[in-house]
Amino acid sequence: MNGRGCRESLLCVFANRGLSMTQESANATAQEVAAFRERVLRKLTYSVGKDPENASDYDWFHAVALATRDSTIDRWMDCTREAYTGGQKRVYYLSLEFLIGRLLVDSLSNLGLFEVAREALAGLDVDIDRIRLLEPDAALGNGGLGRLAACFMESMATLGVVSHGYGIRYDHGLFRQAIVDGWQHEQTETWLDFGNPWEFERSEVKYLIGFGGSVTATTNEQGEVQHFWHWAEGVRAIAYDTPIVGWRGAGVNTLRLWRARPEADFHLARFNAGDHIGAAAEEARAESISRVLYPADSTEAGQELRLRQEYFFVAASLQDLLRRHLKQRGSLDSLPEYTSIQLNDTHPAIAVAELMRLLVDVHSYEWQHAWRLTTATLSYTNHTLLPEALETWPVGLMERLLPRHMQIIYLINAYHLDNLRERGIHDAELLRSVSLIEEDHGRRVRMGNLAFLGSHSTNGVSGLHTQLMRKTVFTDLHRLYPQRINSKTNGITFRRWLYQANPQLTQLLVEHLGEEVLDEPETRLRQLEPYAEQAAFRQRFAEQRLANKRHLANVIQERLGISVDPTALFDVHVKRIHEYKRQLLNLLHTVALYQAIRSDPGGNWVPRVKIFAGKAAASYHQAKLIIKLTNDIANTINADPTVRGLLKVVFLPNYNVSLAEDIIPAADLSEQISTAGLEASGTSNMKFALNGALTIGTLDGANVEMSEQIGLEHMFIFGLTAQEVNARKQGNEYNAEAIIAGSHRLSEVLSAIRGGGFSPGDPGRYVGLVDGISWHDTFMVCADFEAYWQAQLEVEERWRDPARWWRSSVLNTARTGWFSSDRTIREYAREIWKVM
Ligand SMILES: *Cc1c(COP(=O)(O)O)cnc(C)c1O
Repeated sequence: MNGRGCRESLLCVFANRGLSMTQESANATAQEVAAFRERVLRKLTYSVGKDPENASDYDWFHAVALATRDSTIDRWMDCTREAYTGGQKRVYYLSLEFLIGRLLVDSLSNLGLFEVAREALAGLDVDIDRIRLLEPDAALGNGGLGRLAACFMESMATLGVVSHGYGIRYDHGLFRQAIVDGWQHEQTETWLDFGNPWEFERSEVKYLIGFGGSVTATTNEQGEVQHFWHWAEGVRAIAYDTPIVGWRGAGVNTLRLWRARPEADFHLARFNAGDHIGAAAEEARAESISRVLYPADSTEAGQELRLRQEYFFVAASLQDLLRRHLKQRGSLDSLPEYTSIQLNDTHPAIAVAELMRLLVDVHSYEWQHAWRLTTATLSYTNHTLLPEALETWPVGLMERLLPRHMQIIYLINAYHLDNLRERGIHDAELLRSVSLIEEDHGRRVRMGNLAFLGSHSTNGVSGLHTQLMRKTVFTDLHRLYPQRINSKTNGITFRRWLYQANPQLTQLLVEHLGEEVLDEPETRLRQLEPYAEQAAFRQRFAEQRLANKRHLANVIQERLGISVDPTALFDVHVKRIHEYKRQLLNLLHTVALYQAIRSDPGGNWVPRVKIFAGKAAASYHQAKLIIKLTNDIANTINADPTVRGLLKVVFLPNYNVSLAEDIIPAADLSEQISTAGLEASGTSNMKFALNGALTIGTLDGANVEMSEQIGLEHMFIFGLTAQEVNARKQGNEYNAEAIIAGSHRLSEVLSAIRGGGFSPGDPGRYVGLVDGISWHDTFMVCADFEAYWQAQLEVEERWRDPARWWRSSVLNTARTGWFSSDRTIREYAREIWKVM
């Protein structure tokens, strides 16, 4: 498939905030506009069932979405046919999360139809900028990991990698965050309430998934033992397909999400016998599997539901892809030649046992043959080293829910340990550490080890993360299998995070570098470097930023009623709220700055707006307290007349992909200040740099590669390195109290917060929080405070010299091409999947 097929529709993805397209393309599309308008009207009439006179904006949105979807279908079918006839290897991306956001502008601009749609609708008196905002975000993910899956789907379609995403079609995505009196409240997310125009329900594509029951073994005539799993409970998985369009409509791939339904349609007999509730209970139990993303796991029932979700989507996906392979190839012997299955973190790791079960129990493969096929087909991406995030499941729960899988895991483990003993390895400590079963805290299955052993490739998501994986979680497995671990630094799709999110900057790039920059940003963005030296260009660059900042200022005004000065430095910290991401460190700087302004109100201060956004996990009390502290600090500072607006603090509620698209192009400074060694990669760091924000950050995750590409002098890198953090944790001499005592500034900040300076109505609110960082300081907040303060001073110094600031800003955009997810996918495709 080639991406050059649509020259006539080189239409201005970048024209969507009122920028005009060239006369040439305008002429070329008059017919297209008329045709698109006709399609929308037909959809409105025959699919939505409304006439234009009394259609609501929602009706129009649905009609446009359906017309857009139609435009993908022919290409989608071509791609599907080509994949069959061409016989290419297929890539399956298994992920419990896909954080997609909205699809309307994404699909239209990738199809080159955005401007066509705008004109077509204008002719109907409908404003596309109004109706595009009606689309709910598909928030089927928590944060970076789910967003990565969405970027990968788009890049695979762009590069013509024949691929399918597999996940769960949750009724309710990630909760909607409301802020009430400064506290986070979680509200049910309802993205499906008005229907989902992008998906096709495939009622005929359904599989039965078993749970529980028992296993029996019989010996057949050949003397082979065969196992039968008599599961007790069946749940049906129904497929819902969404076409994912690549850039310029190059490829269209399928995202197949599974919905859980009861095995039997309805217990009519039971219902008629008077058991109305009982008849509905089975349905409710089955459907609970695809009810919510990440059910609360504080209870045992919640944990079990999570495991049911994992097995459910893995089992459905494997049945589906084996069926496809058998239909095309006739035998599973060739599975690894034509199939790669990428496991996005350990959530789908049960695939190792399930694929073995299908091969051995169902398709009668001999164990070792099945194991070779399994490991050659599967590969695994690790996303975290945080011990609390490494999945393990109690053996008891596994035995009850998936008895046959537990047997298989034991057997894999036995072969694995035998094999090591044969290799002369008898060190009990080593054998214990590489075992699939953890014996220390009640017996649990280690899903990370299972995924590692069951795959031919285990990759980290940045250079540093991969290096730490080799040294920490997988140190012993790495010694035994030194070839297996490899690094694939994450990336982002520029279509969404530049062309769609920042049309002004995109147009500026096209003006100076030509349209080719849209097709080959990885190489062409570098050609921007000389422009960094030109004052006139820097001026234009600053102007597009200012326009985006005005837009964000309006959003802040509308949502919070706070007015901010668009010419102030926009200092942005948006991501999940987590102690390791250190929003707290930023808050300490905010308070220190506030105190400094108060003690010298006439000083030469750089006006700043501190912008925060992010959700805390519902059960993560400390993170929720940090949100409250942000709002307490914001209320105090924003209301203080001595500050005179020189410093403003805002917390924008309900951070999601759409809000990120508004915030990131408006950022001057990007906060990437995690405790070194704890952020596996980060991807918002890349989104900001691509849009020209300067990064203040630690040498963590992909910040390291960013500093190599961009140059340390165009970022503000500070703080302890991963090695230094580790040394402080190991040696016992790290003493936060001594650091606090040695820093007047830090002591003043902490005592103001601890003493209730920002919570006069509840002066004890932050005592525990402050004592925590004073005594343990697990995340090295105190240790890095002074270095962070100094780095922030450098930020101000650079900001006061616009020529230097904007030179760095332009160079950030020019040197971020390597972080395209197209580059990442090419690396996966060549080195892991072998499809390029
Ligand atoms: C990119 C993105 C993330 C990941 O952000 P990090 O700062 O890398 O953790 C999370 N949420 C949304 C909505 C995103 O777009």
